[in-house]
Amino acid sequence: MFYTVWVNEIWIISTKIHLNLKTLGLSFKKRNQNGIFAVLLSFKPLIKLHDKYFKPFLSEEQILNAVKAVADKIAADYKDETPVFVGVLNGAFMFVADFLKAYPHPCEVSFVKLSSYRGLTSTGIVETLLDPSDNLQGKSVIILEDIIDSGRTLKELVHLFNNTNVKEFKIASLFYKSEVYNGEYTIDYVGINIPDKFIVGYGLDYNELGRNLREVYQLNQKHMINLVLFGKPGAGKGTQAEFLRDKYNLKHISTGDVFRYNIKNDTELGTLAKSYMDKGDLVPDEVTIKMLEDEVEKNPDASGFIFDGFPRTTAQAKALDKFLVSKNMKIDATIALDADDEVLIQRLLERGKVSGRTDDQDESKIRNRFEEYNEKTAPLQAYYETQGKFHNVNGIGAIEDITHRLGKVIEEL
Ligand code: AMP
Repeated sequence: MFYTVWVNEIWIISTKIHLNLKTLGLSFKKRNQNGIFAVLLSFKPLIKLHDKYFKPFLSEEQILNAVKAVADKIAADYKDETPVFVGVLNGAFMFVADFLKAYPHPCEVSFVKLSSYRGLTSTGIVETLLDPSDNLQGKSVIILEDIIDSGRTLKELVHLFNNTNVKEFKIASLFYKSEVYNGEYTIDYVGINIPDKFIVGYGLDYNELGRNLREVYQLNQKHMINLVLFGKPGAGKGTQAEFLRDKYNLKHISTGDVFRYNIKNDTELGTLAKSYMDKGDLVPDEVTIKMLEDEVEKNPDASGFIFDGFPRTTAQAKALDKFLVSKNMKIDATIALDADDEVLIQRLLERGKVSGRTDDQDESKIRNRFEEYNEKTAPLQAYYETQGKFHNVNGIGAIEDITHRLGKVIEEL
């Protein structure tokens, strides 16, 4: 859909208009036609892919300029050689095609295929689906990536090419999320540095749709959603949080997971937390609150949070409210997963056999955690009910049915 509106004799105020239009997602161009200045308004609507809306982010012209700039830089460095450009499928196919058209010197092209995305967030699992070709020996290889964000796929690529006898390999990425890149390897050529927002188009997809778009679109999140998942140990908070994280593009913070990470890495915080966790007691509020705030601060661009295992005391709930107000945020809903104690004990004992979590292997520790819950966490129901934010969901049943019940609550927020 494309609307054009001609507006005459407003050139003098057009700079101001430009700013306003930009915030509306409109763009404009000036034209000189028969001596009259005019403004062409082009309205690019949101697009819908599967269940999500995306707004225009980068125009075809901006993308092609960036592709050309990368091609020019590489051409200057490799004009005396015949490099092999290795495109990373599927996302880089458009970049590779336009890049090769813009590359002026002799070159070869090849592809590898890796995969690490599922839905909107990186799964962290990188699979190699197509290996590098065998005849790269002694050649200069330049990897053409569509996007680098966390750096997980890049790690796998470096690993792949370290096992070949290439002369050297360099990395070029059209899009680059410097805010979230782990910085492990140097990225030799970058097209456009972009914020940490989910994008589609120009080869990039959302669950396979959107690759054929000439422009790049950004996920259009209506507003931030902050959820507290509430429930006894074993109620399924962690499992459900993972689904909600992918579905709503939220950052999942599990205080239990952060503590376990610290214990594994022998940090001071881990040593402190361990003594409480081993008994099934709660870690002191001031330690937990500080840790939670640090986790939120680490994600300034998140489009919302799922708090899993926090707050667990009234003091934590109050501290969370105060902290969120200071960041101009708020809790939208506290959703409790409801399940019977005996069912939960069986679930936790089963989980303990697989995960090795010591606090899940001993029934007396589990019962102590339930007592902690009844005494310190259950009163939070009244706290959130007073705020009109408390929702109860039946936590017994198939995982996807429970996700569906949670989704219904969230969609109505
Ligand atoms: P979880 O993985 O949520 O079951 O948490 C495991 C253990 O970590 C708990 O039994 C507590 O010892 C500790 N923990 C996690 N979250 C909190 C919290 N919000 N406040 C105090 N202790 C916590």
